[in-house]
Amino acid sequence: RSGFDVQAVRRDFPILAERVNGKPLVWFDNAATTQKPKAVIDRLSYFYEHENSNIHRAAHELAARATDAYEGARNKVARFLGAKSAEEIVFVRGATEGINLLANTFGRQFIGEGDEIIVSHLEHHANIVPWQLLANAVGAKLKVIPVDDSGQIRLDEYARLLGPRTRLVSITQVSNALGTVTPVAEVIALAHAAGARVLVDGAQSVSHLKVDVQALDADFFVFSGHKIFGPTGIGVVYGKKALLDELPPWQGGGNMIADVTFEKTLYQEAPARLEAGTGNIADAVGLGAALDYVERIGLERIARYEHELLEYATHGLAGIPGLRLIGTAADKASVLSFVLQGYRTEEVGAALNREGIAVRSGHHCAQPILRRFGVETTVRPSLAFYNTFEEIDLLVSTVRRLATRR
Ligand code: PMP
Repeated sequence: RSGFDVQAVRRDFPILAERVNGKPLVWFDNAATTQKPKAVIDRLSYFYEHENSNIHRAAHELAARATDAYEGARNKVARFLGAKSAEEIVFVRGATEGINLLANTFGRQFIGEGDEIIVSHLEHHANIVPWQLLANAVGAKLKVIPVDDSGQIRLDEYARLLGPRTRLVSITQVSNALGTVTPVAEVIALAHAAGARVLVDGAQSVSHLKVDVQALDADFFVFSGHKIFGPTGIGVVYGKKALLDELPPWQGGGNMIADVTFEKTLYQEAPARLEAGTGNIADAVGLGAALDYVERIGLERIARYEHELLEYATHGLAGIPGLRLIGTAADKASVLSFVLQGYRTEEVGAALNREGIAVRSGHHCAQPILRRFGVETTVRPSLAFYNTFEEIDLLVSTVRRLATRR
């Protein structure tokens, strides 16, 4: 084992001391949202106590502090993703809003009748529905990369789907339902060779593996702050600067304009053009603190430790009679998805909750991929670096008790 000091990081997360049903909280719902370290909670308080102001629009001290904090956070995000500059970072509410922004800007500008959009069978509804809406509105076609029985995308089938009408490939880097890590570098290279752009949904990847958008050559990349130990209500769209500058405005309002008359409005360059109105300033600053925190620990160390946890949990669950693990790809991160013979998934979730263990039981906003495996719902424990081997022992023994009581 890697010798990761999990007790030290656990002390950074006040909520991990909570008790649930008289038991210590075990937070295995990290794919839904992550807990927040004290550093993030304190940064939010500090902002409201010492810096709070609207940004950019005033010549007073607090406006300068708030603007510095907000733009500082944009810089941190740029560095974190390996972007060329902070101008490639647009703040949005989350991954969902980011994908909708791109469907309504890039999509409306560059995708027309008869054009094709490719997604994978693994996608979260947030990376399906916006493209369906667009396709229906403009007469484009949505195509789907199939997966094999392990839950990994089929690159050979993908290569066959790409064609002269492919405008965009939009694919998750880590599946929230199965944990599959997709080969996005290969996906991007093949798309570019076919003249298509690629959007990577990083909602589930950024907290588990090191992302470098330039090394990947991703055209667009989105993620949500709340899934990487930051606040809710803040997320990011990364786009190559030249591409962002080609995008039409989405929402109109203050901040996104250069000059307004009743006859004609001139717009700012990206990213301001895509950030109409007062943004979520404090939570952007909180996200910056979360990224600082993650980088202090180091994503390589996090990935190594989480991989040990995942292997351990996979091994433990796989040994339970009547338990079927769904998603067995060689390359996985954080997520375990299973059904237990003789039990509805909500019953398993409720039994775990009685032991203080939080998991998601449901369709995980990814119905197509669950149906591919013949199920409507699964039980989904999902891990983060503050989880322990002991917590996994408790998970496995609780599920095993259910299985043998049947
Ligand atoms: N994509 C994936 C892969 C996700 O897991 C999620 C959240 N479950 C989203 C997109 C949407 O993120 P949000 O709800 O934060 O906008």
